[in-house]
Amino acid sequence: AAIVLPTVSLLWFMSRVVINERLVIRQKLATLYEGELKEASAQAQHQFLVRLNALNSTDWLQNPNGLLRRLVLEEHFQGVLIWSSDGPPAFPSAGGPSASNVLSDEQLNAAWQLEFVEQDMEAAAERYAQLAASGDPRSAAGQIRCLAKLERWDAAFAAAIANADPSSASTRLLLLTQLKEAGMMEEHPLTTSLVEQLAADLFKPGAEFLPSTQNLLVARRFLETLQGTELDAVEGFSASLKQLIAAESLSLTARDVVSVADYPVDQIRRINSGAERLYAVRHSTPLNEILILMDDEGLMSALSGYRDALADAEVQFRVFDVQGRLIGGDAGEGIDTIVSAPLPTGSPEGHIELFFENGDMFNKAAGRQITVYIWTGAMVILVILLVGIFAGQAVGRQIRLNKMKNNFIATVSHELKTPLASMRLLVDTLLEKRVRDEAHAEEYLNMIARENERLTRVIENFLSFSRMERNRNAFTMLPTAPADIVEDAVESICTKYKANGCKLEMDLAHELPEITVDSDALVTVLINLLDNACKYTGTDKQIRLSLTVENEEVCFAVSDNGIGLTRRQIRKIFNHFYQVDSSLARSSEGCGLGLSIVWFIVNAHKGRIDVESRPGEGSTFSVHLPRND
Ligand code: ADP
Repeated sequence: AAIVLPTVSLLWFMSRVVINERLVIRQKLATLYEGELKEASAQAQHQFLVRLNALNSTDWLQNPNGLLRRLVLEEHFQGVLIWSSDGPPAFPSAGGPSASNVLSDEQLNAAWQLEFVEQDMEAAAERYAQLAASGDPRSAAGQIRCLAKLERWDAAFAAAIANADPSSASTRLLLLTQLKEAGMMEEHPLTTSLVEQLAADLFKPGAEFLPSTQNLLVARRFLETLQGTELDAVEGFSASLKQLIAAESLSLTARDVVSVADYPVDQIRRINSGAERLYAVRHSTPLNEILILMDDEGLMSALSGYRDALADAEVQFRVFDVQGRLIGGDAGEGIDTIVSAPLPTGSPEGHIELFFENGDMFNKAAGRQITVYIWTGAMVILVILLVGIFAGQAVGRQIRLNKMKNNFIATVSHELKTPLASMRLLVDTLLEKRVRDEAHAEEYLNMIARENERLTRVIENFLSFSRMERNRNAFTMLPTAPADIVEDAVESICTKYKANGCKLEMDLAHELPEITVDSDALVTVLINLLDNACKYTGTDKQIRLSLTVENEEVCFAVSDNGIGLTRRQIRKIFNHFYQVDSSLARSSEGCGLGLSIVWFIVNAHKGRIDVESRPGEGSTFSVHLPRND
């Protein structure tokens, strides 16, 4: 509960924070960009009016193609109509060819006879040339036809270019088609100048220009003739020609359906005719009334102020009409809108939306935040887990300690109670004078002395353990002969050995070096080892005590033929209070402190203790101590 509850609450808290963060970011961005969009709308409206007013200073009827070129090629609108007064627009004009047929059929008859009946091209060309001065397009065309058949191209060029007036554009176009048919178009050196002249005739800026219907006719055929030739590939030439053709033809169509009076000044309105979506804006200059036609692209051009205003912002925009159809702007399908606003006054009904260029910034920002929260959460959960593990271990340790304490108290009471009880019994017997003779009395007293000795050993062990625990066991290190230590230890244990029927074999090396040790402590070590050897051996107790010198060390080894130990038990026997058989009902006395005292003393002497043992095969405990130099 201590781990799960905080973890779950933390996760819940994190999820709430993430949701709130998302909302806060969205709100902040919306407020931030709302103002920016307002300013951009004002700028877009202003910029468009400036563009319209820039048209004021010119009389466009003196240069209608100039206006068409400017509006279509530079400003990306789709057409224009110009009025000088009420009534039908002056541009585009729906009139017929400007150069009229001035010659009568009779005057041309002789030339036709020569060309078509007698097929005398030379003479026919000659005859047509004489009529050319009249300016009748039919004579110029006849001359070109005859010269082309005679393959007299230079003369044909001269005839076609003789009149620079745009009205001769159709004659020049005729020569171009003749050249193409004859396969001479790309070869003849003068073709380029012919094409240039034709390009200059079409949509000609200035007061002299072809009437719209004728201009369109020539322009379309010119484009067709150019198709598939090298000239067609000239950078942007045919593309702009196509745009101009489309604009002039749209303007011509609109000419019949719109009336300038229907449109408020400088306000873009939808033209309610035709399937195509078209808009128009009327602009009144001091000299003319102009109606600019635009489709979606044109409308976006009219609103181009938005792009300039938002150029520095990280946002993009898209424009929708009143039906929610996308008119233009940046593609960003499925990307959330930050803020939207109606289009500026003077524009058709619709709205503009702002969104972030690189996908959804909200999700990105929120995603970043979520990652931070998840990492923080993960770290906190990890810390909780670590603290949990740590606390678990501490509690476990405390439980083990308590158990150990209880065991210790039970063991100590047991260890003290047994000798005390037997002593009490013996003393009572003596006091009540229930002994038969002196010999028995002495035997009883000996038994009391043995129990006393056992008690003393137990208490001594407790005391040294307690001292050891407090680290107050100050050892008195003195150079000592190892054999003396062995002697003292054997002397103190011999009574017990005799009483228990232990056979002790001694193997002491000669000429042993002295060692600097606390001899009392080392005697305790040996007594403990010898005591254990006796305790943990069956009825036939064969114990061997050896004293040897190995390398630079003096080695005391106690071997027995007792119950032995497993590897696992060997690893634990030096722990405080560890007993292989810890039940109170066990046969041998002791409280699991002997070996930990041994280990402590040996360590304090910078020695080491080795155990070799196998269950059922006896054990050997060897204490290695560094010898004196
Ligand atoms: P104890 O007072 O119980 O003898 P020790 O620390 O001296 O405590 O010994 C720890 C345990 O190691 C003993 O309980 C015993 O099970 C085991 N042990 C010690 N010496 C021997 C030995 N020579 N043979 C087999 N087991 C032994």
